[in-house]
Amino acid sequence: MKRFFLLASLLCTFGLAQAQPQSPTMVQFLKEFPQRASFNTHSYEFIDVKDTPAPMGYEAFYISHYGRHGSRSEWGGDHTYKLVRDILAKAKADGVALTPAGDSLLRESAIVYACYDGMDGRLTPRGVREHEQLAHRMYLRFPEVFQKGSKEIRAVSSTTPRCIVSMNGFTAELRALQPDLRIGLDTGEKFYSYIARGENRTISARTQKAMAQRYTDPVDKDGVFKILFRDPEKGKPYVKSIDAFLAGIFAVAKEAEACDINDNLFRYLPYDVMYRMHEQQFLSAYLNQCNSELNGDLRLPRNKELADSLIVQADRVLSGASSRAADLTFGHDWPYLGLCSYFGLEGVGDRLSMEEAADHWMASWNCPFAANLQIIFYRNGSADAPVLVKFLVNERETAIPALTPVQGPYYKWEDVKAYCATRVPHTQIVAHRGYWKDNAENSIASLKTAQEFGCWGSEFDVHLTADDVVVVNHDRRIGFTDIQKSTLEQVRKHSLRNGETVPTLEEYLKQGADNRDLVLVMELKPQTSQEREDKLLEQCLAALKAQKLLNPDRVAFISFSYHICQELARQCPGFTVQYLEGDKSPAQVYADGINGIDYPSSCFRRHPEWVQEAHALGMSVNVWTVDDALTLRKMRDLGVDQITTNNPALTREILFNRK
Ligand code: MG
Repeated sequence: MKRFFLLASLLCTFGLAQAQPQSPTMVQFLKEFPQRASFNTHSYEFIDVKDTPAPMGYEAFYISHYGRHGSRSEWGGDHTYKLVRDILAKAKADGVALTPAGDSLLRESAIVYACYDGMDGRLTPRGVREHEQLAHRMYLRFPEVFQKGSKEIRAVSSTTPRCIVSMNGFTAELRALQPDLRIGLDTGEKFYSYIARGENRTISARTQKAMAQRYTDPVDKDGVFKILFRDPEKGKPYVKSIDAFLAGIFAVAKEAEACDINDNLFRYLPYDVMYRMHEQQFLSAYLNQCNSELNGDLRLPRNKELADSLIVQADRVLSGASSRAADLTFGHDWPYLGLCSYFGLEGVGDRLSMEEAADHWMASWNCPFAANLQIIFYRNGSADAPVLVKFLVNERETAIPALTPVQGPYYKWEDVKAYCATRVPHTQIVAHRGYWKDNAENSIASLKTAQEFGCWGSEFDVHLTADDVVVVNHDRRIGFTDIQKSTLEQVRKHSLRNGETVPTLEEYLKQGADNRDLVLVMELKPQTSQEREDKLLEQCLAALKAQKLLNPDRVAFISFSYHICQELARQCPGFTVQYLEGDKSPAQVYADGINGIDYPSSCFRRHPEWVQEAHALGMSVNVWTVDDALTLRKMRDLGVDQITTNNPALTREILFNRK
């Protein structure tokens, strides 16, 4: 449902901007096989594959496989297929003549609807065949793994029926080929959580914004009436929403292959409309799920758990703790795309700008139904010789451009693991007083920018007014107004640099509640007395509770006041509390029950050992306020957990080793 509206709303966009050019590479790609316009609902293209010979003496012994489910019917597709079928059927029944193309589409939309009806999102017979064939090809390609190995295979699936049925098709074929294989199957929420980690709203919002900015030029939609109706004008009254109708035809064409209609149904759409819809779909997926320039830094960490699980499984085999011949995992497209990105695999995992991706990211080649990543492990007889691996993306040997292979597509497993260890930085970014460049510190707009940028956290400062209202501001004074000695009304007479009124904590937290991906790092400013500090603390906790933000995953506390830190530690067990002053060793702070430090970078220059000391005690380590490249690198290399910075963009570049 959501996807349809996205597509329809993008199609609706009109404006005066330059028309988006069509990529000659992509035009040719679609011309070779028009069904490729289906992108991630394109059925798997089985092609002849050849293996580069392994280095002398090496033989495959273990396979780690991640497979996306095979061809399926659409989920939530009722409104689309039925719409197309019903419009054409009604027009025809009323005596409005359809063209031969219109008649064909009427027949085909009925077939696709029947395929969907009662089988929402389920694997189709073609989807089963795809997995049987993939298993067959894997078995014939690497017989030594199955015939000489332990015969033990483990398969797990996401809990979605189409993935479970895919797993069944794949493993049944292996068993048919070699009955003595011992294959264990499993599924459950335990696996689903990492096999199919869901959407991230920050990433989605960034993608939608970029997409809306890209597509401001109109496409000619009315051509569809000429294609389907002998008299185009007579067909128009039957179509209430042209966007819904076009989206419906596109959906029918996308799903046709899954229903064993091996024909190009995209011809029922004007070419420009088809091209636009295809591009919008794959570009949106690329930006959301892959290592794009726009979102890759936010996406890669979300793939770590799955990648780590494959690495751990493989290492258990290598160490002799497991005797499996293969680990097979069955899931969805986004974890597959994420894995390929995490391993830095050429093609799927390329880090591209939106324009580059639109130009040549080979969408349906990269992510069809039954898309798969196979990691083939090789060893020779010598215990000293390194274990080698090669990566197959959709069965094709694929390079990791960042690494030097031993030979051809064969890499040392230890090199791959070392590379993976660098993919996601340990250190997180905290925007200091929000992301306020071109804006105002501690403004709601700067918090929003930090959210949109995808910072881990955003820091802000709070004071208590004389009439007991918590407001957000850094300095105690605004002009001649001392916040702690003034009423809210007096404070509110002042504006921030961007025109906002000084926000109350309540107003600020409303924006904070809007994005659950960002941690609010609340600095409680020292007050004139312990009683006032207690009052401030009480008000802050009440405000967080009122916005449903009193949750250790949503908020962390920092303060220069040791009393406030100790009180927070006492009243909020499980929450991160970091002391700011930098005048006590981690051991002293820990002894007083506080579980974190947030010290100036100069402090860690004097006491670099405090980072390790704090970590050994299970404490978190933040550093303020780091804006220059040299110190950012230094703090990253010390292994601090967070860097508080006025320059999140530069910090991100440095954390990901790009600067
Ligand atoms: Mg502060």
